[in-house]
Amino acid sequence: MSTTATRTDPLSYLGGVIDDLKQRGTHFRLRVLEGEQAPESTFDGRRVINIASNNYLGLTTHPRLREAALKAIRDIGVGSGAVRTVTGTMKIHMELEEKIARFKNVEACVVFQSGFAANAGTVSAILGKDDFIISDELNHASIIDGARLSRARILVFRHKDIAHAEEQLASVQHQPGHKLIITDGVFSMDGDIGPLPQLCSLAEKYGAIMMVDDAHASGVLGRNGRGTVDHFDVHGRVDVQVGTLSKAIGALGGYVCGTRQLIDFLYHRARPFLFSTSHPPSVAATCIAALEVLEREPERIDRLWENTRFFKKELGNLGCNIGGRNTPASETPITPVIVGDGRLAMEFSRALFNEGVLATGIAFPTVAEGKARLRTIMTATHTRAELEQALEVLGRVGKKLGIIS
Ligand SMILES: *Cc1c(COP(=O)(O)O)cnc(C)c1O
Repeated sequence: MSTTATRTDPLSYLGGVIDDLKQRGTHFRLRVLEGEQAPESTFDGRRVINIASNNYLGLTTHPRLREAALKAIRDIGVGSGAVRTVTGTMKIHMELEEKIARFKNVEACVVFQSGFAANAGTVSAILGKDDFIISDELNHASIIDGARLSRARILVFRHKDIAHAEEQLASVQHQPGHKLIITDGVFSMDGDIGPLPQLCSLAEKYGAIMMVDDAHASGVLGRNGRGTVDHFDVHGRVDVQVGTLSKAIGALGGYVCGTRQLIDFLYHRARPFLFSTSHPPSVAATCIAALEVLEREPERIDRLWENTRFFKKELGNLGCNIGGRNTPASETPITPVIVGDGRLAMEFSRALFNEGVLATGIAFPTVAEGKARLRTIMTATHTRAELEQALEVLGRVGKKLGIIS
């Protein structure tokens, strides 16, 4: 009857990739969180100090956000029922977009299902095959995917190298296509900040479009967490600002800010907007409440930066390589501990976990070969005692593995 028993799995070639990862020591299993995302959490049955999440402000468990989500579920249900362009635009979606636009001091905003969808959907919609994308080599995968989908020509410049970016722009300045300069606001693997003012000047000089992905800057940099445009005071000089609602904001989503015309265009051309269902109302309600918390509780951001300064300084004192020589130096709550070898970085992460500290090991292809690392991320809600304990474990395990001398 059934023929499946004799059929060989046509996907069996994937096993070769998995075997290769295992051989390199960079294969992983997912760590499963029991209960809340918090500075001390239980993963796989082990209580650990969590210095790996993007929950910068501790908003994933904020009482006002929980209440807002519950109220939206009670009042208007659990789903939106359609994509935005059919019947899936609810009043609460519009309310969130208006709130973000006011917060960011721009004409208009559109929310996507995720930051990834916002980047990929926008870059692929606003450019076509005769256009050019001038992109920092360390930009996020969602920008790279959007660039590829657009079929525009991609000109990569060396990390934060303005002269190289200009060289790339100059090489195509007499071509008729549109030019887009794009950078992460905060680089997600190194924690350094993109050179916005200089890139804005280049965009102005060459008549290019200027775009910033502020995923790790949203809720972290600028007044009340308004992002890198506010941090550098380059208001009005960035044409497309992307942010995320999934990291410091504590929920899920991504957004694009710009002119009313840009947003209207995205309503008609951004494929994740047209072809994928909008957020449940509870997500929009949570994000509205989160933006209110950013304005009412700025002390959370102050505590985030206090913890960041303390932890970075102590990591340096331990003798960790936190970047700055052959890798960029972090200026934000993301601090890498550079290990170099991929296998050793993953081994470091596993040994730390067994001693009660969760810090993610990151290896090729997420970072360049030879630049494997642990990535640590501070939050506002870590206590000093938790940070001291994490540092003690990091120092002890790092010395045992010969990573720290
Ligand atoms: C996390 C991240 C994204 C994606 O955001 P999500 O909301 O998680 O999809 C985009 N860009 C950068 C730089 C990021 O770090």
